[in-house]
Amino acid sequence: MSREAAPDLTAPELEELQQELVALRDELSRALVGFRDAAKPVDVDEPIGRVSRIDAIQQQEMARASREGIALRAKQVGAALDRCAEGTYGACVSCEESIGYARLKARPETPFCIACQTRREQR
Ligand SMILES: [Zn+2]
Repeated sequence: MSREAAPDLTAPELEELQQELVALRDELSRALVGFRDAAKPVDVDEPIGRVSRIDAIQQQEMARASREGIALRAKQVGAALDRCAEGTYGACVSCEESIGYARLKARPETPFCIACQTRREQR
């Protein structure tokens, strides 16, 4: 297998990050199950008063937003585990430069190097 874009990770580092990804995946899927149980639709006919109804809707909005955030992160974690399996983990999916251990340690599912991430955020 050609590895010109070899991520500069040592085998123990790679192993460690991969274990973190697996733990993260389990944690996120547990969190998603919890949200599914909690996200009951607000019953607008229920006589709970206008203010508490707004509260309930706002709480659901917040729950929905964080559920979507978790779902997105779970997807990124899954993609990162796929890259581990392919042997491309640690390389930026955009420019194929090495992402670097410190950055991966902080956020093991990140698909981009700092330069590409910054470029995307500025767009
Ligand atoms: Zn990059």
